[in-house]
Amino acid sequence: MTPPTDILAIAAHRDDVEQTCGGTLLKLAQAGRRTAILDLTRGEMGTRGTAEDREREAGEAARILQVSWREALDIPDGRVENTFDNRLKVARVVRRLRPRVVILPYWQGRHPDHYTASTLGYEACFLAGLKKLEIEGEAHRPFKIVYATLYCNVRPTFVVDITEQFEARFAALMAYKSQYADQSEGKGLFPAPAEIRERVETMARFYGLLAGVKYAEPFLQKEVGLVDDVTLLPVASL
Ligand SMILES: [Zn+2]
Repeated sequence: MTPPTDILAIAAHRDDVEQTCGGTLLKLAQAGRRTAILDLTRGEMGTRGTAEDREREAGEAARILQVSWREALDIPDGRVENTFDNRLKVARVVRRLRPRVVILPYWQGRHPDHYTASTLGYEACFLAGLKKLEIEGEAHRPFKIVYATLYCNVRPTFVVDITEQFEARFAALMAYKSQYADQSEGKGLFPAPAEIRERVETMARFYGLLAGVKYAEPFLQKEVGLVDDVTLLPVASL
């Protein structure tokens, strides 16, 4: 049996996690936590590269981010749908890994796969906790769900300082050579590598500035925070 996972990131596509919360996962792994990534699709619809290329690259990115577990489901790329079948596929993984925290994509956005993955993930986490649901494994419901908001311009409720992890996170994204290396295929669609670096850095810097650090990743939680000692709050107001 797999030992319980501290944190599981669920995303629609291979390389989503690298863009939205890879630094956070690496930071936790460096602190000795067990981290995992579940990609819902295998990337067979991508303009560049094949599903096999992406699998190899996802493995390399996972190594860089020091994740303990990474797998991809067989949900069709470009057609992530919130069906009962798909919810069961995700619920099985939740039961198997027993994560305390799950990171989902934010529930709004440009790409339908991204926002659908959000509701699908949420409902699968709920299902996984139903004792009478007849799928393999013991019922398990994550203690906490947080949403990675980087793809969507919403104000996060908190950010994670990834200043120390930024370079590795960028290297993990660049591990997707079939997507990001300079090439003629899809040239009008994909920015050049130098441009990607600039974009990724600008976003991380922006969220870092919101909390007074160099680089950060943004998250949103639905619940109200519970505070014991107001004098220990971490971020200055003025
Ligand atoms: Zn994506």
